[in-house]
Amino acid sequence: MDGRWSQLDYEMLLELAERRGLRVLERALPDLLTGLYSESHRLILVESRILEEQQRVALAHELIHAERHDASCAAAPFSKIELATRREVAIRLVNPEAYRIAEETGGYAYQIACDLGVTVQCVRDYQRYLEECAENIGRRISA
Ligand SMILES: [Zn+2]
Repeated sequence: MDGRWSQLDYEMLLELAERRGLRVLERALPDLLTGLYSESHRLILVESRILEEQQRVALAHELIHAERHDASCAAAPFSKIELATRREVAIRLVNPEAYRIAEETGGYAYQIACDLGVTVQCVRDYQRYLEECAENIGRRISA
Protein backbone atom coordinates (compact mmCIF):
# COMPACT_ATOMS: atom_id res chain seq x y z
CA MET A 1 0.00 0.00 0.00
CA ASP A 2 1.95 2.98 -1.27
CA GLY A 3 1.96 6.15 0.77
CA ARG A 4 0.18 4.63 3.76
CA TRP A 5 2.04 6.91 6.20
CA SER A 6 2.33 9.91 3.86
CA GLN A 7 -0.25 11.88 5.84
CA LEU A 8 1.46 11.21 9.18
CA ASP A 9 3.85 13.83 10.49
CA TYR A 10 6.46 13.14 13.17
CA GLU A 11 4.05 13.74 16.05
CA MET A 12 1.52 11.33 14.56
CA LEU A 13 4.17 8.68 14.08
CA LEU A 14 5.08 9.14 17.77
CA GLU A 15 1.43 8.45 18.65
CA LEU A 16 1.46 5.37 16.39
CA ALA A 17 4.56 4.08 18.20
CA GLU A 18 2.86 4.62 21.54
CA ARG A 19 -0.26 2.72 20.41
CA ARG A 20 2.02 -0.15 19.44
CA GLY A 21 3.50 -0.25 22.90
CA LEU A 22 6.87 1.15 21.89
CA ARG A 23 8.83 3.68 23.89
CA VAL A 24 10.45 6.49 21.88
CA LEU A 25 13.18 8.69 23.32
CA GLU A 26 15.01 11.56 21.64
CA ARG A 27 18.70 11.51 22.40
CA ALA A 28 22.01 12.69 20.99
CA LEU A 29 23.22 9.54 19.23
CA PRO A 30 26.81 8.68 18.31
CA ASP A 31 28.32 8.03 14.88
CA LEU A 32 25.86 10.09 12.80
CA LEU A 33 23.07 7.65 13.63
CA THR A 34 19.57 9.05 13.19
CA GLY A 35 17.77 6.21 14.95
CA LEU A 36 18.19 2.99 16.89
CA TYR A 37 15.90 0.13 17.81
CA SER A 38 16.05 -2.51 20.52
CA GLU A 39 13.56 -5.36 20.18
CA SER A 40 14.32 -6.68 23.67
CA HIS A 41 13.44 -3.28 25.19
CA ARG A 42 10.75 -2.37 22.60
CA LEU A 43 12.60 0.93 22.55
CA ILE A 44 13.28 3.39 19.74
CA LEU A 45 15.86 6.14 20.02
CA VAL A 46 15.66 9.10 17.64
CA GLU A 47 18.51 11.57 17.19
CA SER A 48 17.45 14.81 18.86
CA ARG A 49 19.62 17.27 16.91
CA ILE A 50 18.26 16.73 13.40
CA LEU A 51 15.40 18.34 11.47
CA GLU A 52 11.86 17.13 12.04
CA GLU A 53 11.69 15.68 8.50
CA GLN A 54 14.79 13.62 9.29
CA GLN A 55 13.29 12.53 12.60
CA ARG A 56 10.12 11.55 10.77
CA VAL A 57 12.05 9.29 8.37
CA ALA A 58 14.20 7.89 11.21
CA LEU A 59 11.15 7.06 13.32
CA ALA A 60 9.35 5.43 10.37
CA HIS A 61 12.48 3.34 9.77
CA GLU A 62 12.62 2.11 13.37
CA LEU A 63 8.86 1.47 13.42
CA ILE A 64 9.31 -0.92 10.51
CA HIS A 65 12.10 -2.76 12.35
CA ALA A 66 9.70 -3.06 15.29
CA GLU A 67 6.90 -4.37 13.03
CA ARG A 68 9.21 -7.05 11.70
CA HIS A 69 10.66 -7.79 15.13
CA ASP A 70 14.18 -7.24 13.87
CA ALA A 71 16.55 -7.52 16.81
CA SER A 72 17.98 -4.08 16.20
CA CYS A 73 18.95 -1.46 13.67
CA ALA A 74 22.64 -1.98 14.18
CA ALA A 75 23.26 -3.80 10.91
CA ALA A 76 25.67 -2.52 8.27
CA PRO A 77 24.07 0.36 6.34
CA PHE A 78 23.98 -1.57 3.07
CA SER A 79 22.97 -4.94 4.49
CA LYS A 80 19.93 -6.64 2.98
CA ILE A 81 17.79 -5.92 6.01
CA GLU A 82 18.69 -2.21 6.05
CA LEU A 83 18.03 -1.75 2.33
CA ALA A 84 14.69 -3.55 2.67
CA THR A 85 13.76 -1.34 5.60
CA ARG A 86 14.69 1.85 3.74
CA ARG A 87 12.68 0.69 0.75
CA GLU A 88 9.63 0.08 2.95
CA VAL A 89 10.04 3.53 4.56
CA ALA A 90 10.03 5.15 1.12
CA ILE A 91 6.95 3.19 0.04
CA ARG A 92 5.07 4.14 3.21
CA LEU A 93 6.04 7.81 3.40
CA VAL A 94 5.90 8.82 -0.26
CA ASN A 95 2.47 9.35 -1.73
CA PRO A 96 2.75 8.36 -5.42
CA GLU A 97 0.56 11.22 -6.65
CA ALA A 98 2.41 13.83 -4.57
CA TYR A 99 5.70 12.39 -5.82
CA ARG A 100 4.57 12.63 -9.45
CA ILE A 101 3.57 16.28 -8.99
CA ALA A 102 6.81 17.14 -7.14
CA GLU A 103 8.85 15.47 -9.87
CA GLU A 104 7.05 17.34 -12.62
CA THR A 105 7.40 20.74 -10.96
CA GLY A 106 10.90 20.43 -9.51
CA GLY A 107 12.42 17.21 -10.62
CA TYR A 108 15.54 16.94 -8.53
CA ALA A 109 15.77 14.89 -5.36
CA TYR A 110 16.40 17.71 -2.89
CA GLN A 111 13.37 19.69 -4.06
CA ILE A 112 11.16 16.60 -4.03
CA ALA A 113 12.35 15.78 -0.51
CA CYS A 114 11.39 19.28 0.67
CA ASP A 115 7.99 19.04 -1.00
CA LEU A 116 7.23 15.66 0.56
CA GLY A 117 8.70 16.29 4.01
CA VAL A 118 11.22 13.46 3.77
CA THR A 119 14.99 13.12 3.34
CA VAL A 120 16.91 13.05 0.05
CA GLN A 121 17.92 9.47 0.82
CA CYS A 122 14.25 8.55 1.19
CA VAL A 123 13.50 10.11 -2.23
CA ARG A 124 16.38 8.17 -3.79
CA ASP A 125 15.15 4.96 -2.16
CA TYR A 126 11.71 5.64 -3.64
CA GLN A 127 13.21 6.27 -7.07
CA ARG A 128 15.08 2.96 -6.85
CA TYR A 129 11.80 1.27 -5.94
CA LEU A 130 10.10 2.82 -8.99
CA GLU A 131 12.95 1.61 -11.19
CA GLU A 132 12.57 -1.91 -9.79
CA CYS A 133 8.83 -1.80 -10.50
CA ALA A 134 9.49 -0.66 -14.08
CA GLU A 135 12.08 -3.44 -14.55
CA ASN A 136 9.65 -6.05 -13.25
CA ILE A 137 6.95 -4.84 -15.64
CA GLY A 138 9.46 -4.89 -18.50
CA ARG A 139 10.47 -8.44 -17.60
CA ARG A 140 6.85 -9.57 -17.51
CA ILE A 141 6.12 -8.02 -20.91
CA SER A 142 9.17 -9.59 -22.58
CA ALA A 143 8.57 -13.00 -20.96
ZN1 LIG B 1 17.71 0.05 10.32
